[in-house]
Amino acid sequence: MADCLFCKIIAGEIPCSKVYEDEKVFAFRDINPQAPVHVLIVPRKHIACADDIKSCNSGSVKAVFEAVPKIAAEEGLSNGYRIINNCGEDGGQTVKHIHFHLLGGKKMGEQMV
Ligand code: AMP
Ligand code: ZN
Repeated sequence: MADCLFCKIIAGEIPCSKVYEDEKVFAFRDINPQAPVHVLIVPRKHIACADDIKSCNSGSVKAVFEAVPKIAAEEGLSNGYRIINNCGEDGGQTVKHIHFHLLGGKKMGEQMV
């Protein structure tokens, strides 16, 4: 996607603090961290949001979740973590390339699930 921030980060056109990559997945530190560890995990393939997941692209989402324990281990999150996906306007999604926030390094509050 020509005008997508995260596609540009994946392509190396915009700098990021990369923490992981494989054939289908790219992960980098959030620029505005909400926890000691705040990593954004994204599929290389552009999918706008969770509402656009279909059988033809769900392999990329599967790959994201297979990467989660590897990234969590590398980040030292042995005591647990939280994964969040915001979808659409009501979900508070600001970047329209599906991404999963991996948050950890502190005990999360009980609010918001
Ligand atoms: P969301 O609100 O779920 O769409 O999350 C978008 C996230 O992207 C926010 O947490 C931002 O802080 C983060 N973000 C925006 N621009 C960048 C960037 N250039 N590098 C890293 N993270 C970014
Ligand atoms: Zn994109």
